[in-house]
Amino acid sequence: MRAKAKLYPKEAARLLREKPGVREAVTGATLHFERNRLRAYAEVPIAEWRERAKALKDHVLSHLDHYLELAEKRLRENGVQVHWAETPEDAHRLLRAVVERHGVKRAVKAKSMLTEELGVNPLLASLGVEVFETDLGEYLIQLLGEPPSHIVGPAIHLSLKEIQKLFHERFGTPLDASPEALAQVARKVLREAFLSAELGISGANFLVAETGTLALMENEGNIRLSTSLPKVHVAFVGIEKLLPRFQDLALFLPLTARAATGQRLSTFVSLIQGPAREGEEGPEEVHVVLVDHGRTALLADPEAWETLRCLRCGACLNACPVYRQTGGHPYGYVYSGPIGAVLDPGLLSLEEAYPLPYASTLCGACLEACPVKIPIPKLLLTWRHRAVAEGLSPAWEKAALAAYRRVMESPTLYRLFSKALRGLPLPQDLLPLLRAWTEGRGPLKPSPKPFHQLWREMEEPHGR
Ligand code: SF4
Repeated sequence: MRAKAKLYPKEAARLLREKPGVREAVTGATLHFERNRLRAYAEVPIAEWRERAKALKDHVLSHLDHYLELAEKRLRENGVQVHWAETPEDAHRLLRAVVERHGVKRAVKAKSMLTEELGVNPLLASLGVEVFETDLGEYLIQLLGEPPSHIVGPAIHLSLKEIQKLFHERFGTPLDASPEALAQVARKVLREAFLSAELGISGANFLVAETGTLALMENEGNIRLSTSLPKVHVAFVGIEKLLPRFQDLALFLPLTARAATGQRLSTFVSLIQGPAREGEEGPEEVHVVLVDHGRTALLADPEAWETLRCLRCGACLNACPVYRQTGGHPYGYVYSGPIGAVLDPGLLSLEEAYPLPYASTLCGACLEACPVKIPIPKLLLTWRHRAVAEGLSPAWEKAALAAYRRVMESPTLYRLFSKALRGLPLPQDLLPLLRAWTEGRGPLKPSPKPFHQLWREMEEPHGR
């Protein structure tokens, strides 16, 4: 998928102006998730859980070659066909071969950010395969032709009214249909797709190296059906998803659920150990595609590798005051919010992902929320330093900051400029540079007195 991150500031401003309902929907949903997370974290010794999870992921990442080889061996012993994809093109070649060999006409897909990253849906469409997203949120945005807005809640930006309108136009349901009635309609369409699809596609939350087990978490049952009903199952797994031992799931499954939605455990956990054996029901063929797509390079980066600890729980998005204003679309790539701002420059290039590292107030809420303690604020500063060093910031910004520094270093210049600015009229039309700001807000009104004068006046009555 091509990134449109460069348009972030414009797209964020446009969305806030033209679709104010998105802010309301995203803020409401993320605050709900956030409250649930805080309650779920408080029920357990979370500091100890997070520290253990961080240490375990660091161990895996620093011995990734060993665990990848072990996982491949175990998967093959389990009867799984293992493939390696360094690039999206490699992944496409493998998937195309599966589609052609089995004459696939219909596929059901479980929610997977990696398949978004790889552009799996456009590929399947180009091969004439009808694809059904089976997670309800993903299904909604597929009908709308939109990308996901959130890692865990892809349709978080939609209001009930918008969904009612969508289903009314697509399926003729009443405009005031209840959420339960809408879910029933989607369920009927998707049940038919599950039963007729030749191919099921999924990602994986974890891949256990010692047993070659794929672990998938969900709440709707669609992943279970997507991976067990079609005769072929293809799972795309990022190489950073490994866990050493089966028992490590006992920490990571509940930790991820608590971070993501505030649940003690997701409603369904599927543990997939290869194709159906004799006398069992299930897929005849299981393929695991181990995907790099920039991860090895990120792992070799001494300042940015910690990003690979990410569990894709979405907790940092829910905690982020910047993400809450717009949801994920303006970020212009698969991963949005705080993790997107530090992962996208690593997976793509800083030039392609610029200016996402600036889409943050550096408040640190993301770090507090993250179950594996990824130091997102520190990583944001790393990417910002690099952006400056690589000359990516625009010329006007450099000139403005140089002028600002000059003024702030000189009390005389500071007084002169602040006096001049307070005296100026600031009509919107004379400020083309600020128009993006002033269009959605009231006129700028400078304070009649400078701050240090206000401060003096505040202190004087007390005789200090
Ligand atoms: S960075 Fe942390 S909080 Fe954000 S999605 Fe990844 S694991 Fe979750």
